[in-house]
Amino acid sequence: MSGELGERAQILLVEDEEALRVSVKDKLELEGFTVEATSNGEEALRRIKSKTHDLAILDVVLPGMSGLEVLKRIRDKEAEGGTGAPHTPVILLTARAHESDKVLGLELGADDYITKPFGVRELVARVRAHIRRERAHRDGDAEPPPPVPPGYKFGDCTVDFSGFKFKKKTKEIRLSALEWKILSVLVRERGRTVTRERFLREIWGWEKLPVTRTVDFHVSRLRSKVDDAKEPRHIITVHGIGYRFEE
Ligand code: CA
Repeated sequence: MSGELGERAQILLVEDEEALRVSVKDKLELEGFTVEATSNGEEALRRIKSKTHDLAILDVVLPGMSGLEVLKRIRDKEAEGGTGAPHTPVILLTARAHESDKVLGLELGADDYITKPFGVRELVARVRAHIRRERAHRDGDAEPPPPVPPGYKFGDCTVDFSGFKFKKKTKEIRLSALEWKILSVLVRERGRTVTRERFLREIWGWEKLPVTRTVDFHVSRLRSKVDDAKEPRHIITVHGIGYRFEE
């Protein structure tokens, strides 16, 4: 199992409930991951300062510093590293009683969340998926999609990315600058899921990080122009994660 993801992935786990922390740590280690586990945010910050983890699992409600604050520090550190800095996928552990935490967490740049109580196997499966996705992105993927041709066609649409011309059937449709950017990222990554988080980083940048709902808003506007808003065939929503473009 450990060889499947290449080098051992380093995971930071912050959870104050001891029984849960121990069981998650044990299970992840059995699956071949290296785990640094701690019960508090202050210790987590020390770990974050000294190294970059492949993934972090953060309980939101902690004594002292919250998991959301830890998440914010992870993103701050990445922002200091510039656009080439590695991205640490973050999974939040939220309580059903605190539904607003997950919204706030996603806005702060969490990649995923899992509501307590949860099955440890489910968490491990998500850990594996996030690490795999991040590595594929970092390595430029084994099979990058071919470059976008000048008169790129999908469904009944034709796109000219260099001339900023978009036609649906024979009708020319105006796209805003943001919509062009979103469409070009989607088409470039066609067939693969683009997380909201990645849209935020690529299109808006870290300096003026808006909320993830902003991404949803602009994607749905783009979709209403280039796709069928009710039954989209090209801009597919990947629930809780982001969007995927299909030809
Ligand atoms: Ca807790």
